[in-house]
Amino acid sequence: MARYTGPVCRLCRRDMTKLFLKGERCYSSKCAIERRAYPPGQHGPGRQKKLSQYGIQLREKQKLRRIYGVNEKQFRAYFRKAASQPGVSGDNFLILLERRLDNVVFRMGFAASRAAARQLVAHGNVAVNGRKLDIPAYIVRAGEEISVIERHENNAFVQEALQKARIRQVPQWMELDDDKPKGKVVALPTREQIDTQVNEQLIVEFYSK
Ligand code: SF4
Repeated sequence: MARYTGPVCRLCRRDMTKLFLKGERCYSSKCAIERRAYPPGQHGPGRQKKLSQYGIQLREKQKLRRIYGVNEKQFRAYFRKAASQPGVSGDNFLILLERRLDNVVFRMGFAASRAAARQLVAHGNVAVNGRKLDIPAYIVRAGEEISVIERHENNAFVQEALQKARIRQVPQWMELDDDKPKGKVVALPTREQIDTQVNEQLIVEFYSK
């Protein structure tokens, strides 16, 4: 399935949830959810359709998939992997998504959104333990050090994103260098440390049919 390249605020309005796909704009009053609090399209402002249980599960799955910018095939593969691991499948699933290199780069604040982080990685501007790695789907391990390569360290977008992320603070499972766009994954995240607003149990039910 091809990656979605259309207007992303539409995706948030479709689910009436902030998916944080646009960087700083998402935290401002310019956010489309704040300005137009109804689903997109001709019938958007009208009556809402009542969803079936399947529909509710499907919407939750789409929401999570869009937050992390993963295609359906890859998303399903993550679920299979999570379900085969010991522990709670829903927790494992979210933790796996959270460990993607593009997400870690975003969480550390080297990019304003996951899409920008994905691009930063894909363009070869990120290193893991000092070695350039251009695979956004790489699953980061505890103890690994993530950095923006030296040549790109002072890039204006990186610096601006980093400044704002420092104000918001990075998650507890990572540490950020005081001067450079560099950080370390000190431990794998727990479900409680992941602030993604989703009911993962609905997604487990969706895939368990
Ligand atoms: Fe979603 Fe961000 Fe657009 Fe708001 S600004 S609708 S959170 S992508």
